[in-house]
Amino acid sequence: MSHDRFTFVLQSSHMATPRVRQFNFRREGGSALYYTPGQFITLHLPWQGMELRRSYSVATIPGTVNEVQLAVTYVEGGRATRLLYDMTPGARVEATGPFGRFVLRDDPPGRYLLVATGTGISPYRAMLPQLRERLDGRQHEAVLLLGVRGPDELLFGEDFLSLARDNRAFRFIASYSRHLPEPPGAHERKGYVQDHLMELHPDPQHDIVYLCGNPGMIDAAVESLKTVGFDNHNMRREKYVSSN
Ligand SMILES: Cc1cc2nc3c(=O)[nH]c(=O)nc-3n(C[C@H](O)[C@H](O)[C@H](O)COP(=O)(O)OP(=O)(O)OC[C@H]3O[C@@H](n4cnc5c(N)ncnc54)[C@H](O)[C@@H]3O)c2cc1C
Repeated sequence: MSHDRFTFVLQSSHMATPRVRQFNFRREGGSALYYTPGQFITLHLPWQGMELRRSYSVATIPGTVNEVQLAVTYVEGGRATRLLYDMTPGARVEATGPFGRFVLRDDPPGRYLLVATGTGISPYRAMLPQLRERLDGRQHEAVLLLGVRGPDELLFGEDFLSLARDNRAFRFIASYSRHLPEPPGAHERKGYVQDHLMELHPDPQHDIVYLCGNPGMIDAAVESLKTVGFDNHNMRREKYVSSN
């Protein structure tokens, strides 16, 4: 696994939801980035004579495009966010990685409970081919819970809805903290994702829980999961916090 420093060149970007911009980078020279689905890369952004290091989960579905797709939430007053949102195609940025152990492991058959807020959905999107394989092998089932404010923020929602349509072992739940559409779709719920997680009656003997995104959501979920017997062996977390 390489932890090289390399240069990304921005190919394109677009607003994927009202508060999230998707950036499509390619490595300078065109070589592919090898990563394990679930990992992140770190961008090194020059800012006022210093270097900001900001990490972003790779959202690319392996085998689809030779691009490193990153989904970045707009943060009011955010330094890296501003620099990234001002970038135009052709812009270059230094990066290192891939890093991280928030990946699927060789787990015994059971149920994955994959929980995200906002852009915390990105690692699960990269895991889609692996998930399909495990679900098709009929050994695993999976429920993905995505917490956002409302339906217009359902980042990469169609990728997961289509897996749920194709595969009975997969279920997708969208948890909306603010707006529930009228009438709601079968996958749509009002409330917080960590509460909807506990309504699935997580079982530490059978389930493995992945938690990604907002640190507050992760702390709340971990507290609740511990009370029903989960520990570090069956809870895996990726907190989206700023580094400097
Ligand atoms: C392993 C890892 C993976 C990550 N992956 C992603 C990812 O895929 N997509 C993504 O968008 N972010 C991701 N993050 C967070 C990202 O690295 C930055 O922290 C984020 O983009 C904010 O950086 P900034 O420089 O714009 O904000 P800063 O200038 O560092 O912060 C400005 C202010 O905003 C607050 N703030 C920072 N982040 C948020 C937030 N998300 N919501 C509300 N307030 C905030 C800070 O506390 C501070 O007060 C990840 C973080 C880690 C550690």
